[in-house]
Amino acid sequence: MHSETFTIGLGNNNTAVRKEASEDYVAFWAREAQKLTWFKKWNKILQWDPPFARWFVGGTINASYNALDVHQNRQKIAILWEGENEDRKVITYGQLHDHVQRFSNALKSAGVGKGDRVTIYLPMVPELIVAMLSCARIGAIHTVIFSGFSASSIKDRVVDSKSKVIITADGGYRRGSIVKLKDTVDSAIDGLNFVEKVVVLKRAGNQITLGNKDIMWDDFVKNATDKCDAEQLPSEHPLYILYTSGTTGKPKGVLHDTGGYLTHINSTFRWAFDIKESDIYFCTADIGWVTGHSYVAYGPLICGATMVMYEGAPDYPTPARMWDILQRYRVTIFYTTPTALRMFMKFGDAIPNSYDLSSLRLLGTVGEPINPEVWKWYYKTIGKSRCPIIDTWWQTETGGMMLSPLPGLETIPLKPGSAAFAIPGVDIAVVDENGSEVPPDTKGYLIIRKPWPGMLLSLWGDDEKYRTVYWSKYKDCYYTGDYSIKDSDGYFWLLGRADDVLKVAGHRIGTAELESSLVSHRSISEAAVCGVPDAVKGEVIIAFVVPKEGVKVTDELRAEIIKAVRDDIGAIATPQQLYFVSKLPKTRSGKIMRRLLKAIASNEKIGDVSTLEDGAAVNEVQAAFDDLKKQMG
Ligand code: ATP
Ligand code: MG
Repeated sequence: MHSETFTIGLGNNNTAVRKEASEDYVAFWAREAQKLTWFKKWNKILQWDPPFARWFVGGTINASYNALDVHQNRQKIAILWEGENEDRKVITYGQLHDHVQRFSNALKSAGVGKGDRVTIYLPMVPELIVAMLSCARIGAIHTVIFSGFSASSIKDRVVDSKSKVIITADGGYRRGSIVKLKDTVDSAIDGLNFVEKVVVLKRAGNQITLGNKDIMWDDFVKNATDKCDAEQLPSEHPLYILYTSGTTGKPKGVLHDTGGYLTHINSTFRWAFDIKESDIYFCTADIGWVTGHSYVAYGPLICGATMVMYEGAPDYPTPARMWDILQRYRVTIFYTTPTALRMFMKFGDAIPNSYDLSSLRLLGTVGEPINPEVWKWYYKTIGKSRCPIIDTWWQTETGGMMLSPLPGLETIPLKPGSAAFAIPGVDIAVVDENGSEVPPDTKGYLIIRKPWPGMLLSLWGDDEKYRTVYWSKYKDCYYTGDYSIKDSDGYFWLLGRADDVLKVAGHRIGTAELESSLVSHRSISEAAVCGVPDAVKGEVIIAFVVPKEGVKVTDELRAEIIKAVRDDIGAIATPQQLYFVSKLPKTRSGKIMRRLLKAIASNEKIGDVSTLEDGAAVNEVQAAFDDLKKQMG
């Protein structure tokens, strides 16, 4: 484990919260829930019939109401929106409120009611948030699909959720070209008779054809008024279905409630980001993923924050785009992914150094383990050694953050590459195969031992799968599927997916350990490792690395990198082969898909690739393996 620490906080030290949480987590969450606005208070805080938890039973609430109606200052800016093509919009809380009420009325007129599913397939435009909050307002269940998905991926999700309305746009901008979203929806829903209506926002102005189910957004809302009371919904009423990234397999339709979820998001947003009236918050996640749901759409809005929302690719038209946005809007809180940071790092320090990033006061990451090397780069080059970094571990299923430093609550020494501690009121442990907690500094599986408010209700329409995926490995404990270690100071380190763990000569090595070592080499920007079956050692390690800009790839460099890993982790961790590739196979949310490497390496079927970003990356890996096989005879 990386031993260096950085003690930098924001001056908060509220010890009462952790104390209350450890005394009685159920009562603690009830106190947190009271920070939201309820129409009617619950009569039971938690109903726990493992593996089904229901929070704040008997209470009624509305997500849209908590995001909009509760805010007194209608002039406050909610969204500073920037299109990829530099279109800009500023939207106040008052305007957002009006838009949402109007769109809610239009949905109602179209026959959408409580419990109906609505698929949203839009680029990162403010109307995406309007559509979500409108569904929430009338009790419809939204299911947002990332706008990079293909027709067949949309079809699977629309069929699974049986959505009767789809909300989309003519097109969206991605790297300067127009992605034809409406055309994709047309092919996705061809023959799906249960889809009654498609609402089309005009965004890119590309040519589209309107069929008899289709209506343009402006026509849809034309006769609707902007007064629509929020439905008083039971706390456990489903707010949304969201399909997971598909890093480990076929995406799962995760179903979230309203009251528990909002409680979790409201509290974690404040604890993690220390949000203040004057903050300008910017989370780069697409709303198509859970980070976008929890910490772009719901988190900042229920806290009444001002956010930057950006439509396009982070490196378009140049790798300076993000820094330009941070400088121009005077962003104070920046939340992004390790994969984006590795990409920025690859282009060198000169680019961010030429921007004024002095407004920043807090940095965060989510989605994958952050390599200590990348953490330190983020800390020094972007944060200028002034800003705490929060490495937040959580999942679509957990709804919100579960492990993270919480500078809004307390100041702790930060360890680069560690997600620190569980949030208050959450019980997480590292256990062995039998479910016994392992001693400090020992690797094991990450599990959650008590229900938490952001917890998924189930998988949509599949309680059985919900039981088997998350609750069958350990009795009444939620299995995360992640491999982890808790050090002797109690800090959690995520070592990668349990499915991807390498078993070499009797040792179990998490992918993150090896990849962090590879990435710490000055010429490497990204790395992915996997095991190939071997008669003697069980598995041998194969590494794929992406060199930094301008690095000359040679056999000497290869040998030098292999030696560095060996020196760093030990002889058992020596990669058998190391390949230079120009890109790694990733999900559309930017996560490395190691299962593809493994499948190719083991000559197995590749499985579901609907969430794969770029098929060319797989071909490159395949070619590398073919080459390896030839060499090994
Ligand atoms: P699927 O479940 O379909 O395979 P997925 O797990 O990638 O997809 P998400 O819910 O988007 O879908 O991702 C959650 C996972 O991302 C976690 O289980 C963990 O493996 C990884 N992850 C998220 N944040 C962190 C973090 N801060 N450190 C390490 N890993 C993280
Ligand atoms: Mg997962």
